Formats: sequence, structure tokens, C-alpha cells
Amino acid sequence: MTDRLVLVINCGSSSLKFALRSESEQKPLLSGLAERLGTADGVMNWKAGDIREHVAITDGKHSTAMASLLPLIERFAHRPLTAVGHRVVHGGEHFTGASLIDDEVLAAIEDSAPLAPLHNPAQLTGISEARQVFTDIPHIAIFDTAFHQSMPPHAYRYALPEALYSQHGVRRYGFHGTSHRFVSTQASLLMGLEPGHGAWLTAHLGNGCSTCAVLDGKSLDTSMGMTPLEGLVMGTRSGDVDPNLHSHLARTLGWGLERIDNMLNRESGLLGLSEGLSNDMRTLVAARAEGHAGASLAVEVFCYRLARSLAGLAVALPRIDGVIFTGGIGENSPLVRELTVRHLALFGLAIDPAANATPPGNPARQIQAGNSPAILVIPTDEERQITEECLALLDLAATQPVEQEA
Ligand code: ADP
Repeated sequence: MTDRLVLVINCGSSSLKFALRSESEQKPLLSGLAERLGTADGVMNWKAGDIREHVAITDGKHSTAMASLLPLIERFAHRPLTAVGHRVVHGGEHFTGASLIDDEVLAAIEDSAPLAPLHNPAQLTGISEARQVFTDIPHIAIFDTAFHQSMPPHAYRYALPEALYSQHGVRRYGFHGTSHRFVSTQASLLMGLEPGHGAWLTAHLGNGCSTCAVLDGKSLDTSMGMTPLEGLVMGTRSGDVDPNLHSHLARTLGWGLERIDNMLNRESGLLGLSEGLSNDMRTLVAARAEGHAGASLAVEVFCYRLARSLAGLAVALPRIDGVIFTGGIGENSPLVRELTVRHLALFGLAIDPAANATPPGNPARQIQAGNSPAILVIPTDEERQITEECLALLDLAATQPVEQEA
């Protein structure tokens, strides 16, 4: 069989991220990011091996950025694309896995747009533009929420009036599903378990952060909820707060919904706790070492709340085969791993300091001490997971009988 190629696309309202992945190679053949779309300063930076270049997207259009991909792909792919995989943030209750995009799937993505107003409309634009440029090949949607559709009702329901769930879809959905799925699958391999087996607590810690309890390849609970604001402390997002905060701020400060929304999503988290110093963990770790009180507090709150979330999710599992750290912070911050695991001594978890120190290249590895349950650092690769899910869907479709038209 030829080495199949998938173009992975993640379209935002002002950005377009892409990666060309082959079935057999660990690294992308080509990857890049078009930014500042919607302005006259649009630019697309890309790299392929050692080559790094940029292309101006002066009309700022998503369609122009998408069209600029075509010659690049012809230059680096040397063979036709097999499929285009689109990352879509919210699939509501419609999707439990990768889905071949057709009119019905597009309608369902649109239907979920009120739950992700910043993301789903932009991703629909990306799909529509890509279908015009990359014609005659399958386009496949991969949803951040799909992995968590295996959660039982006692994990996904809020204690709210039933009609809000049944008529308006108010429930917990969870996000970062592609990453939680990828690292838990890799953990089974790393620990020599049967493929896809194991009971894992995963922590995806990037700009957005979430935890997940995974049993034998299924998400049983996760920290994010109806939107990606619930749960952990993140770069600029608050995570959990008292639900009465909105009415308190409205009553006492006269704040409107938009202002509160903006504060919770863009001015809070590590940025808010560090007195506005930074949303970036690397900066905070360095400032903490120099005695910055706000940075210290931000790191402490981040790690304590993370540990508390992992401890809470443990009740979803029959045992713990391992705790997995991933994402920019999870993969690269020995301090965050150490402070977090210190709060989890009750579970017998302990870290080996030498193994915890980040080696060059940051490969997947175990970092627990002595008899502790496994603690794993596993670099995530969402694009590889998307590529594998696209190809698996195509393989499945190829084995199913073609429906005869009446
Ligand atoms: P995104 O969610 O945007 O994909 P990443 O997964 O790249 O984000 O994670 C970004 C976060 O990882 C930032 O807070 C960054 O500071 C943090 N990070 C990266 N390297 C380190 C490091 N060596 N130490 C601490 N934090 C790090």
C-alpha cells in the first residue's frame, strides 16, 4: 500500500494552522500557520524540513491562505493527498468519532455552533474553503468533544432543571479529546499493556488545560464542561469559579455579561493570579525563582487545583495504572509535575527527581519513584491522532458494502 497523506487543518477566526502528515512518518512533511487573517497584515509562515519561509496574505482572506497551500503541497507531497482532516471544536452530542463531511455533518456542526460561537463558525469556513481547493478527496471532521461522548450521565449532567439539558443541550461535553485519546493510547504502548488498555489520569496542560479519566480507551470523565472554561486554571482562563460570581459582579460593580465573559476568559488564570505578569508558564517559573510573589502564587494555585482535579477524577476509575502529563507545560515543566504530584501522596504517587528533569528531545518516559504508580510524560501529537483517525475511517468505509441506489 502507498504511504497515504493527510492534510490536517485547524481553522480559527483569524488563523489557519495546517500540517501535511504521511502515514509512516512521525514528523510533518510540511506545517505552518497563517495569522492575522481578516487584516491587511495576513501572513503565512511555513516550514518543511530545514526550509522556513513566509507568504504574505495581503487580502487577509481565508480563501487566499487556503489557495496558497496548494502549490506548497504539490512541492512537498510528490503524490496526491488521500484526505483532508478538519479539527472541529464542538460536535455537541452528534459525534462520537471521525465523520466524513457531507451536508448532514455540516448541518450538525452548525447546530452545535451556539455552544462554541468563536470556533465552530470559523471551522465551517475552513471546511468550505478547503473543499473548493482540495476537490475530489474525502474531507473528514475530527471533534474535540467526540472522545468524551463515552462519559456516563452522572459525569456529564449538571444539577440543573432537566429542560435545559433536553431542550438546550446544557451538559458537560469536554474538550482536548484528541490529545487525551492520543496520550492514553501511547501510555498503553509505553507500559507494555494490551493496545488501548489501561486506567489513566491524563493532564493536558497547554494554554488551555484539562484532565481526563480514561479506562480502556474510553473517557469516563473530564474537567472541562459545556465550554472550555470549566475546570483547571489555564493561561488566561479562570477555570472553576462560584457560579454566583456573575450576579455578584453585576450587582456590586455593575458589570455586563460581555465584560464578565472577557474577564473570565482573557484576564484570569495564570495571568490574573500573577498580577498581570504573564499567561506563560515558562515566564512564571523563571519569575518565581527570582521571588515574584504573584508568579509563585499562580504556580501554586495551578498545581494544587490540577492535583485536586486529578484526585477527583480518580473516582471514575477502578484503579490507577498511571498519571500522564502532556501539552507544553506537562511535557516541559519539571516544577509543575513535582508540585502537583506532591499533593497526590495519598495515592502513593511520588516522582523520581532525576527522571523528572527534562532531557533533550523530551521523549515519552516514566518518572515515578520506587513503588509509586506510573507517572508518565508523553508528548502529545494531535495531528498524528487526527491523521490516524482519518485513515481508520477510510479503511472502515472501504470494508463496508456500497449502498445500491434504488
Ligand atoms: P497550546 O495550548 O497553545 O498548544 P502549548 O501546548 O504549546 O500551548 O503550551 C504552551 C504552554 O507551555 C505555555 O504556558 C508555555 O510557557 C509552556 N511551556 C513551554 N515550555 C515550557 C517550559 N520549559 N517550562 C514551563 N512551561 C513551558
